[in-house]
Amino acid sequence: MSLLLRNSSVITRFENALIKDTARRFFASRSLGHDRDNKYDLVVVGGGIVGVASAREIMIRHPKLRVAILEKEKSLAVHQSGHNSGVIHAGIYYKPGSLKAKLCVEGLRRSYKYLEEKKIPYKKVGKLIVATNELEVKRLKDLEERGKANEVPGMQVIDGDQIQEIEPYCIGLKAIWSPETGIVDWAQVCRSYGKDFTNSGGDIHLNFEAQKFVETVGDADHPVTILGNDDQRVSTKYVLTCGGLQADLLAKLTGCSPTPKIVPFRGEYLLLNPEKAHMVKGNIYPVPDPRFPFLGVHFTPRMDGSIWLGPNAVFALRREGYKWTDINLKELFESVTYPGFLRLSARFILPGLQEAAKSLITPLQVADLRKYIPDIMDYDVMPGPSGVRAQALSPEGELVDDFVFDQGSGESPIAKQVLHCRNAPSPGATSSLAIARNIADRIDKDFRLE
Ligand SMILES: Cc1cc2nc3c(=O)[nH]c(=O)nc-3n(C[C@H](O)[C@H](O)[C@H](O)COP(=O)(O)OP(=O)(O)OC[C@H]3O[C@@H](n4cnc5c(N)ncnc54)[C@H](O)[C@@H]3O)c2cc1C
Repeated sequence: MSLLLRNSSVITRFENALIKDTARRFFASRSLGHDRDNKYDLVVVGGGIVGVASAREIMIRHPKLRVAILEKEKSLAVHQSGHNSGVIHAGIYYKPGSLKAKLCVEGLRRSYKYLEEKKIPYKKVGKLIVATNELEVKRLKDLEERGKANEVPGMQVIDGDQIQEIEPYCIGLKAIWSPETGIVDWAQVCRSYGKDFTNSGGDIHLNFEAQKFVETVGDADHPVTILGNDDQRVSTKYVLTCGGLQADLLAKLTGCSPTPKIVPFRGEYLLLNPEKAHMVKGNIYPVPDPRFPFLGVHFTPRMDGSIWLGPNAVFALRREGYKWTDINLKELFESVTYPGFLRLSARFILPGLQEAAKSLITPLQVADLRKYIPDIMDYDVMPGPSGVRAQALSPEGELVDDFVFDQGSGESPIAKQVLHCRNAPSPGATSSLAIARNIADRIDKDFRLE
């Protein structure tokens, strides 16, 4: 259809209007790519960095396939992929042997190669993980072991004097120095993957929210039909969902298990006064508390030269709730009545309240930051942007740490045609090309695509 519209200079304005109107009614989404009809071999639901990287990888491997991405927003990378710290992680933190550990280190290598090839700006500013007391020095040792097991490139442990050679304003007892850690704009990377995908023949349908998955009547080659708003519909042989904050809802819609449930945790950033930006050269991170999946409030230089301080971790009152006033009562009710959430809250009520207090009372958060750079004052920071993490939570109240991909295990015939990406938290952006490789391998193995 978009091909038709592109050639519209040779047809009359009336015909053009007719085609446009038919297109609007037939397919009320904005489509990038070829969009020859609405039948596909594979439809990827979710235009974040994981979905787009995976669609791109499959299209590159199988250029003859018909592949589409459905994204409910009006552009790609609107949620987590466009609201993150912008760090290219080196793979230090993750449990050796886990998917996160493997795919982060592979993703780091692939990301730098890709950024070079596409001339996407990035900076290898490095990262310090700084211990400020003896307990953290002990935890740093565990992190060093993990980093070594994960074969993180160039990592070394340094002492207080060496910390100041790298970051003159930062204090600490010991630190892990990771020279390969970098920064980039992940939304730009996601859009670049999208361009590769459409250039290889894929279609992107924006403003298309997958709301229902039904069996196609009379077309055995495309057994799943996905319905959106108005008259939007596509039919397909197979489905890959990469829905981020909506991952569990998409699983439920395809007849698969609604657990693990996604619980949204907002991460709010402060912005450092530009006059103090010279105090931060690279990434400065705390030693994370092993009880939590989040890395702790850190100092992150951005590609535009600004310095972000954060993110904290507060329970969001809706899935896409970027501020305290973003509330969705239905989603909130579903979260707080989920047995896993009740069990988690019982264990972490105090840290949860402390995070909420820091979110509402900025000086409390600045006090945390001053442990690393004492010269930062309350008046040096201002409220900044925020992002919402999609955190999978088991019914037992465990925060699911690793990436989770599972093939539909529900009873319905549709479930058998679907692969779900159910948990892709940080370092999901860094790992995106490696996740895409992993997902494409699974699809090649489990689906009969050609
Ligand atoms: C605060 C924060 C900081 C982070 N920092 C880093 C970092 O520094 N480095 C790093 O590597 N990672 C980081 N991450 C993690 C990283 O951003 C994510 O792992 C990654 O963006 C996940 O991508 P995704 O495609 O799975 O999800 P998303 O980017 O959330 O994409 C999911 C998409 O699916 C769409 N969708 C959902 N339901 C439907 C539907 N029914 N129909 C159509 N479309 C639908 C949504 O609109 C959305 O665009 C951070 C994350 C956050 C929140």
